[in-house]
Amino acid sequence: LNARMSKPNSNVTVCVRFRPLSHKERKGNDDKVCFKKLDSESFVFKDERDEDVIFSFDKVFYDDSEQSDVYNFLAMPIVTDAVNGINGTIITYGQTGAGKTYSMEGPSILHCNELKTGLVQRVVNGLFDCLRTSENITTWTVKLSMVEIYLEKVRDLLDLSKDNLQIKESKSQGIFISGATEISIMNGSDALERLSEGIANRAVGETQMNLASSRSHCLYIFSVQHGSTTDERVRIGKIILVDLAGSEKVEKTGAEGRVLDEAKMINKSLSALGNVINALTTAKPNHVPYRDSKLTRILQDSLGGSSRAALLCCCSPSSSNSPESLSTIRFGTRTKLI
Ligand code: ADP
Ligand code: MG
Repeated sequence: LNARMSKPNSNVTVCVRFRPLSHKERKGNDDKVCFKKLDSESFVFKDERDEDVIFSFDKVFYDDSEQSDVYNFLAMPIVTDAVNGINGTIITYGQTGAGKTYSMEGPSILHCNELKTGLVQRVVNGLFDCLRTSENITTWTVKLSMVEIYLEKVRDLLDLSKDNLQIKESKSQGIFISGATEISIMNGSDALERLSEGIANRAVGETQMNLASSRSHCLYIFSVQHGSTTDERVRIGKIILVDLAGSEKVEKTGAEGRVLDEAKMINKSLSALGNVINALTTAKPNHVPYRDSKLTRILQDSLGGSSRAALLCCCSPSSSNSPESLSTIRFGTRTKLI
């Protein structure tokens, strides 16, 4: 592990999370578990040829893991860095039903006990804690934006009238989504209210357009700005949390019209994401293909250079989902290859 940490890709953390068997899986014939736990960093999984293979990651979270374990390992370092002006990205990847949204939002963003609170709220609380306890930070602003990417269009979740936002770049702001609503948030509960508005808006849009949230990417963007007593400059750090569209393969036969368009776009942006992370994990990338999708373009200055990233590969534990879980695990290993 130490050897791995010192390699140049140490600013990308890749973890796997197996959710518990669902009630339905437990009751039906899907209760066979597809992996064998070895330790907190590796497990055995049958590959495409039905052979046992050991897969290792920075951390593997099993069904006994708590939301706080996930936060502490992969998100807390990113939060601490954001307060020091270093951008970060936290991404959940996996097939629909694998636990991406649960990891991000908990079972419900507003009504959930402390134990089950998801990464998004923990990140906000962590940000405010860091800002409050830092001795040389005197004033700060934390801003929230929420957008959804569907069919390569960026939609503002805090203002549904803005449904085709453009991504721009400037010297002072870096990469930004032009015209996206930015709300100043004062504390954790304030943020929670705004976040739940965004989530509710997402559901409204879905009903109006007859979409499934699993077919779009949801981005929670927090930016931190502060003055400090030791440093005249106002530093800006940004954390983007991304709840990706489901990574499952769409049946090629039968898929047509919008379903096929969705599948193509999702495929395109997920492989663009994989290519970008993979390029970043090579010691000296000469070309990082950020412009290949809206998603990677938005993440450009939060996913490369000195910024930090964490990828949580979410998997169902049931052997009935083995092929999709293997594909998710492969995505994780590919991004970690040097
Ligand atoms: P996704 O967003 O990947 O489509 P969800 O996060 O909605 O999947 O999870 C699917 C179901 O499994 C939900 O009912 C969710 O509450 C449950 N679930 C997911 N992960 C966990 C977990 N770690 N512990 C308990 N329940 C979970
Ligand atoms: Mg989801």
